[in-house]
Amino acid sequence: MRSTMMQFPLTLAHILDRAGRLFASTEIVSRLPDKSLHRYAYGDFHRRALALGGALQALGLKRGERVATLMWNHYAHFEAYFGVPCAGGVLHTLNLRLHPDDIAYIVNHAEDRFLIVDDVLLPLYDKIRANTNFEKVIVVPLSGSSVPAHYGDYEALIAQSAPLSPPAMDEEDPAGMCYTSGTTGKPKGVVYSHRSIVLHSFATAMVDCLGLGNRDCVCPVVPMFHVNAWGLPFTAVMMGAKLAFPGQHLDAVNLLDLYQSEQVTLTAGVPTIWAGILQALEKEPARWTLTPGMRMVVGGAAAPEAMIRAFDKFGLGVVHGWGMTETSPVGTVNFIKRETAGLASDRQYELRAKQGVPTPFFEIRAMSDKGEAPWDGATMGELQVRGPWVAASYHGLEDDTGKWTEDGWFCTGDIVTIDAAGYIKITDRIKDLVKSGGEWISSLDLENALSGHPKVREAAVIGVPHSKWDERPLAVVVVKEGQTATADELREYLAPKFAAFWLPDGFEFVDELPHTATGKLLKAKLRERFRGRPWD
Ligand code: ADP
Repeated sequence: MRSTMMQFPLTLAHILDRAGRLFASTEIVSRLPDKSLHRYAYGDFHRRALALGGALQALGLKRGERVATLMWNHYAHFEAYFGVPCAGGVLHTLNLRLHPDDIAYIVNHAEDRFLIVDDVLLPLYDKIRANTNFEKVIVVPLSGSSVPAHYGDYEALIAQSAPLSPPAMDEEDPAGMCYTSGTTGKPKGVVYSHRSIVLHSFATAMVDCLGLGNRDCVCPVVPMFHVNAWGLPFTAVMMGAKLAFPGQHLDAVNLLDLYQSEQVTLTAGVPTIWAGILQALEKEPARWTLTPGMRMVVGGAAAPEAMIRAFDKFGLGVVHGWGMTETSPVGTVNFIKRETAGLASDRQYELRAKQGVPTPFFEIRAMSDKGEAPWDGATMGELQVRGPWVAASYHGLEDDTGKWTEDGWFCTGDIVTIDAAGYIKITDRIKDLVKSGGEWISSLDLENALSGHPKVREAAVIGVPHSKWDERPLAVVVVKEGQTATADELREYLAPKFAAFWLPDGFEFVDELPHTATGKLLKAKLRERFRGRPWD
């Protein structure tokens, strides 16, 4: 017997058209370089995204060709998110925080044909110009300056564009691409399909995931060049939610002002951003009136329990999730399940600091040396995943990366425990685990605990070579402004929470910790710096 259902491709063109028809008057707000707010609605967005697609076709864009963007979070980048793939192209968002040499490497490796760039980012483009070869560079005049004659003017292109002629499209066609930030080796490209983006949007919109609906106002603080701002622009269009883009102004005051003026209900970013927001709220608790219960999606690095508790006091709900470039990115999201709803408050906080449970169609397992680790919340193993929005290979690379198992699971490089209720807890990245006397120590657990100390702003724990134990943990700590702390008081603070052999043998106090372009701790740098540190 055969199914009698239609074959209907899952494409972004459908999502864009539906939004243009159903949500034409819903607002999209963007902060501009001069901090003023640009406002228009989905009706304009729909028309302009199609016009951009038409303009790119007129420039000769063919199916599957890459259009790179070097842009902050705002309406024009959002137009490219749909205009490029709906014209049959592939949206390639470039991470503007990378070193110019890395950006140029990525552009050339991806064979990008066109570039769309913010006028305020032209100085950055100048640094990669000699090493790249774009056929046409299109400049978005965000700051009102006039576009130099040898570049294309984004606004002029849109104004003069012929209507887009919808290309034949298959749901498996490539729609977007993103490179990993290259913390291990050269950056690697992941290519998303229309289908993978659509299914990822369905999954993340669901209640018990991000619960993103039409009545939400969504503010993606996570950059649109970082795994598609976690897919939020796509999901928001699917649901017709209002959007508030922060532009390049990611400091706490500008964000809180935007949350207040647009009555944001859902926002997303890495923990570093939320640490700044928390400090601002604690300093001036009465300054902003935020939407009660605003959800703050935290990912990219662990949300410490102390942070979740602190935001609860302001009536703001941290939603903790896990993902990576290779997983589109959302794989697991934390929500309190029916069976865990009766737990005491402290246990619930402990649970909320975990990275959550897998969404539908996202399968997980933890593999240790002894095979699949039991779901007991204690046995550590490498997290392996599979699902319709998980990469099956890297762009232009033979699969000699060792990242996929023979039976088709993707090896994340993250060490986790999975508990009986299915919540994963990231204990480390494989390369960051501290290996002491044949036992594993989670640097993340120690860092999260340390960051709960009232005097500590940020902490990193690394393994430093040790003659007897192989490695021992060293804590590198930044204290809050105007504070001083001692090794003894920090060790005492940790002592009740961990087995004795987990406690750092040394503490170093520094002014600042090194971070990657995406705000993660750059532990390789610290390991290098403290490699020869003598132990007592
Ligand atoms: P890169 O792998 O280049 O650093 P990604 O943005 O793809 O960039 O990062 C994915 C990694 O970030 C994950 O493998 C994991 O180590 C870490 N990560 C993501 N979310 C969390 C989280 N909630 N808690 C702890 N680590 C996280």
